Amino acid sequence: MNAITKIGTFNDSDLFRQQALIGGVWRDADTKAVAEVTNPASLNVLGTVPDMGGDETRAAIGAAAEAFRSWKKKTHAERGGLLERWHDLIRRHEQDLALLLTLEQGKPLAEALAEIRYGASFVKWFAEEARRIGGSTIPSPTADRRILVLKEAVGVCAVITPWNFPNAMITRKVAPALAAGCTVVIKPSEFTPFSALALGVLAERAGIPAGVINIVTGMPAEIGKELMANETVRKISFTGSTRVGALLMKGAADGIKRLSLELGGNAPFIVFDDADLDLAVEGAVNSKFRNGGQTCVCANRILVQAGIYEAFAAKLASRVAEMKVGAGTEEGVVIGPMINGAAIDKIERHVADALEKGARIIARSEAVPEGKQYARPILLGDATTEMLLASEETFGPVAPLFRFETEEEAIAIANGTPFGLAAYFYTENLKRSWRVAEALEFGMVGLNTGLISTEVAPFGGVKQSGLGREGSQLGIEEYLEVKTLHVGGL
Ligand code: NAD
Repeated sequence: MNAITKIGTFNDSDLFRQQALIGGVWRDADTKAVAEVTNPASLNVLGTVPDMGGDETRAAIGAAAEAFRSWKKKTHAERGGLLERWHDLIRRHEQDLALLLTLEQGKPLAEALAEIRYGASFVKWFAEEARRIGGSTIPSPTADRRILVLKEAVGVCAVITPWNFPNAMITRKVAPALAAGCTVVIKPSEFTPFSALALGVLAERAGIPAGVINIVTGMPAEIGKELMANETVRKISFTGSTRVGALLMKGAADGIKRLSLELGGNAPFIVFDDADLDLAVEGAVNSKFRNGGQTCVCANRILVQAGIYEAFAAKLASRVAEMKVGAGTEEGVVIGPMINGAAIDKIERHVADALEKGARIIARSEAVPEGKQYARPILLGDATTEMLLASEETFGPVAPLFRFETEEEAIAIANGTPFGLAAYFYTENLKRSWRVAEALEFGMVGLNTGLISTEVAPFGGVKQSGLGREGSQLGIEEYLEVKTLHVGGL
């Protein structure tokens, strides 16, 4: 039975697929085994997907290799045109896609819709970028030669994505891959496979040929092992934890595969005494609590200078106290359920550790229902660098405030992490703006803004937050090889 129809009302229920997509065929696992997918709000089973492993992954890689032979030969305009159609279909079905996303991932419906539009923006952007893949000529050292630099598709790419942005993390990789002429095998998160499969349906309807996009669901380690070992896979593009990223990097080493890694963060959010207080509070709410605090760029450590500390804490406290927690489909909810029990355990562990080490509770939302997967938004004061929440991503609605006195101290605390994805700071002082922006060791810095994600700007981290950039003009380069052509005897 189509389990999800009990819960959601879709305009187009064909978008809800419980089979994987390999070489243009929707299919089950060889063993017929399935894995259940749960709605994190109700804890009911939404449906099942095939529990696939190495054999099906090999078949998907084979289908992608076959499709690559003709896909790479299409003109940039042809590939761009198909991506445009995919984009238009995603936008046309955005309400259904958003509902599906909320049902399997939990975020409030308005945020899910924003993610679908953000996800679609990459498809549109790279549809346009397809025709701008250039090359160059280099003046030859001798008169009888010419030197040309050509760009060619990398080949079959493995795309492995997390649960926190089940739509956008896929399009941010697949759109540039396809625009460049690559074909893909997608392994979505086991917690959120339905958003990926729905994108597969729309890609098919857009006319993207069979085998260009393959989607394998099931056992992460088994599927990952084949993607790492198989020589046909020339690149792995991964978004997820630093732990798994490192594992993939080691696994890809023997085959010298190319890698793009978008990994974990530990974002500092610094508020200086000379900040615009209201702007900083708004930014903190946006950056900390979006997706219930389950984003890689979300403020993990909020550093506030002594002179503005009490005023900032008081304003943020009133915002936290009024946050409504509940199912993402409920009106007015701003914090949905957390993705799973392990996420709740980690949040509770971080808060307990902080309280034990001297943090105090400044504000909390109303209590959340017992026995459910909800975490209560909480604002903690007197946080210190010895606490777990200072060194690990909490990935929940926990906002710890660290007090600091000087700019040097704030920068030292901010950079005191092996991660380097996003950082934010608030100041009205021009000289400080430049000094701090240049001193922060992060791939992305928000100055007087908590919002840094857009398809037009490079997205990615330094240090243990990863390799490579997504979005922008750089994003497509990750899927292109450089070939130098030397023409002689002229
Ligand atoms: P995760 O690393 O547990 O899982 C990510 C993906 O890897 C999933 O599809 C999972 O099934 C797969 N995976 C797990 N083990 C594997 C294996 N052995 N081989 C191959 N694949 C395997 O991460 P998650 O919990 O899904 O996502 C949260 C993490 O992602 C956080 O650390 C967050 O910061 C990070 N993230 C980073 C970005 C970014 O752009 N830098 C964006 C979103 C999320």
